[in-house]
Amino acid sequence: MLICKNCGLEQDELTAKIEKHFLANGGYHLKALCSDCGAFIKNMPHSLPQILHFGKYKGKPIAVIAKENPAYLRWLYNQDIKETLKNSIKIELGRHEFDDAQQGLKIS
Ligand SMILES: [Zn+2]
Repeated sequence: MLICKNCGLEQDELTAKIEKHFLANGGYHLKALCSDCGAFIKNMPHSLPQILHFGKYKGKPIAVIAKENPAYLRWLYNQDIKETLKNSIKIELGRHEFDDAQQGLKIS
């Protein structure tokens, strides 16, 4: 549970606004902002669990779905879902693509 220090609104990782801040080294930080007043709440860990609460992947972390079936998330993104969930999907698909790029650089 996240509580906004500015307006007191209680929210969780899915209802808060998550912003991605890119770093010079190509990585990024995630920041949680209040979905109501936009105040900064806290920095999020990169391994933030974000679970899908409906559909055929109900109960699964979005990060896992991004690896198993990214096409499903791209489809879901275009459905009538919360803007905050769209943010999570964008973040996880972006991370997945980033992981692939990293693996492509590995020398075996
Ligand atoms: Zn607030």
